Amino acid sequence: MSPGAAATHPIRHRSGHLARPRREGRRVLGVDAALHRVADELDALLVEAELGFIGKSSKMLDEVPEGVGKITPEEAEHFVSNTGVDLFAPAVGNVHGIVRGGREPKLDIELIKSIAEAVKIPLVLHGASGNTDEEIRAAIEAGISIIHINTELRLAYRQGLVKSLSENPDELAPYKYLKPALQEMQKVAEKKLRLFNHL
Ligand SMILES: [Zn+2]
Repeated sequence: MSPGAAATHPIRHRSGHLARPRREGRRVLGVDAALHRVADELDALLVEAELGFIGKSSKMLDEVPEGVGKITPEEAEHFVSNTGVDLFAPAVGNVHGIVRGGREPKLDIELIKSIAEAVKIPLVLHGASGNTDEEIRAAIEAGISIIHINTELRLAYRQGLVKSLSENPDELAPYKYLKPALQEMQKVAEKKLRLFNHL
């Protein structure tokens, strides 16, 4: 089975029925055992799991989505030891997308430290768009190994495209009017890579 197929294939319990993750508030119940089997069976793959609700989409938001919260180190330890996942993305004040008007929640650095000590596997920070460089640096220091940034890249691309189209209204060649959009996105990517690697 290809990795892509494995990731999208329905999870089956031993009895054969489908495991349906049920969302109750910010807890997902009933998936631990199924996830454990997936992690066991797909030995050659790394299984990454996100725990806690941190919003759904990489876009500009007016408010922090309802239900966004943080998990506790105990919940983290319980989940990781019961699932055997390889990489863990906890809800620690992060949110998918960027909240406008300086209302992006702050990362809970102390909580990241506690979770890192509790789970002892690499931590992934999802939804890191909109967080400041200082927060990102502190999060890495506290135990984050991988960082996901999407919205800031999308924003740079779009802004580059809008500027390019408005400055060159007669340009019809996509490879020409798309180039500045790509370059703007590349600038953000380079800046983040420098930040992540203390350069
Ligand atoms: Zn995520």
